[in-house]
Amino acid sequence: MRTYGLFIGGEWVSTAERYEVRNPANGEVIAECAVAGEREVEQAIQAALQAFPDWAARSYEERGEILRAVARRLQERFEEFALVESQETGRTIRETMAHDIPASVSVLDYFAGIAPAIQGETIPVPGMYLNYTRREPYGVVAAITPWNFPLWLAVIKIAPALVAGNTMVLKPAPTTPLTALMLAEIMAEVGLPSGVFNVLTDPTPGTVGDMLTAHPKVSKISFTGSTAVGVRVMQRAATHVAPVSLELGGKSPFIVFADADLDRALAYALLANYFAQGQMCTAGSRIFVERPVYETFRERFVQRVQRLQIGDPQDPLTEFGTLHKREQLEKPRHYVELAQQDGAKVLTGGNPLTEPPFDKGFYFQPTVLEEVEPTTRVACDEIFGPVAMLMPFEGEEEAVRLANMVDYGLAAGIWTQDIGKALRVAHQVQAGKVWINCYNMIPPHAPYGGYKLSGFGRELGLHCLLDLYTQVKNVHIDISPDYFEWFG
Ligand code: NAD
Repeated sequence: MRTYGLFIGGEWVSTAERYEVRNPANGEVIAECAVAGEREVEQAIQAALQAFPDWAARSYEERGEILRAVARRLQERFEEFALVESQETGRTIRETMAHDIPASVSVLDYFAGIAPAIQGETIPVPGMYLNYTRREPYGVVAAITPWNFPLWLAVIKIAPALVAGNTMVLKPAPTTPLTALMLAEIMAEVGLPSGVFNVLTDPTPGTVGDMLTAHPKVSKISFTGSTAVGVRVMQRAATHVAPVSLELGGKSPFIVFADADLDRALAYALLANYFAQGQMCTAGSRIFVERPVYETFRERFVQRVQRLQIGDPQDPLTEFGTLHKREQLEKPRHYVELAQQDGAKVLTGGNPLTEPPFDKGFYFQPTVLEEVEPTTRVACDEIFGPVAMLMPFEGEEEAVRLANMVDYGLAAGIWTQDIGKALRVAHQVQAGKVWINCYNMIPPHAPYGGYKLSGFGRELGLHCLLDLYTQVKNVHIDISPDYFEWFG
């Protein structure tokens, strides 16, 4: 069993109070972590503040080198990280090995390489002046992350923020702090200066988060989590006018036109709904299928869902693990009930799995609904679990109308072989990320983020480096021998 302190100013700080982190698949305690309070929040912010001037003064190359070293070390500890990520989340080791760790390494390498693209511009202004801009880091960034992809969601904040010259206090989700703490070990090993990166853990959602978001010395807040908490984060940040970026919930449409390559669309419909047991902000759970292929798609989709290998997340053959916590188990159950009251039919699944070997975890059957009214709660609320719904539609116009009916706007999937149609629909759907003939592809090079209640600000890509983690300073120089006398 691992034991962790808080990572503050390059040191491991222990606290009198500690809490247990458990494997959601079997309830076993896998680690003990420290409990940060007001004093430790203050220490971490002060450490990040002190480290800032020196870190910001270093070259992009130097900061990039350190990130590259972190990436190499993460690669060396690949299997250990993949195992712990699976143990703390309940997600399958197949996923954490194939996605979370390699994707985190790529993000670190990408931002290490692209850092020199942080450039200013010279602006031609009339008269004898030189006018130019500089992109400068903010200072201390508070990063707050959820439990579904703990390492990758932290790394997509850490890499751009640090390479741009900011320092950071990271608060991972209470139930999944371990890979962030392991990353802190790596940061110390590769020589990241003390205080540049700090990690605070606590078992009670909101406690440390509230202190960080309202702290006047936090210059930028980068939040990923639910829309409800995102609203609160914004309110607290407003008290000291800190800029905020929010990556929030979703209820994304997955639109299958009749001319789509159905084999491909089916494969990705499974990925869009049952990867991470459906606990994905981008879950494409509203599957709209054009009427001529609706029956075929439905039959084949249900068959594929019924074949998913449910089991121990740490078994490499398991395709579908446990939900992350008890509240997560209640959600799909509640929404399936609501859907049935509203006249929907359960095509497969719909129940928790409570018999051995599933009785010690929070297992819920991969579920497919149909005859769902698009305006009902099951079709509009984020469930964040393995509940997909099939809804027929006719034509492009109806597809766009149905897609845009919800208040979220994170992602959308479009399936057709007609590129004109794909692009027309892509341009009309209200979503920050649109996938055509694929789904859930999130390369580090391209911006990612939501419309509407799914948040604002774009993570990843050059956009994020420039817009989220640097601020613009304009310098105006008078080069004329004359000067302007306003008074007298
Ligand atoms: P959550 O909002 O409950 O918690 C997210 C983080 O915020 C956690 O670290 C939590 O401890 C912290 N927190 C809780 N109260 C806080 C407060 N008052 N102030 C500051 N921080 C506080 O979300 P969750 O249940 O951990 O994650 C699921 C949600 O995250 C879903 O809605 C999902 O769609 C969303 N999500 C979005 C993205 C994205 O990229 N858009 C990615 C992953 C998850």
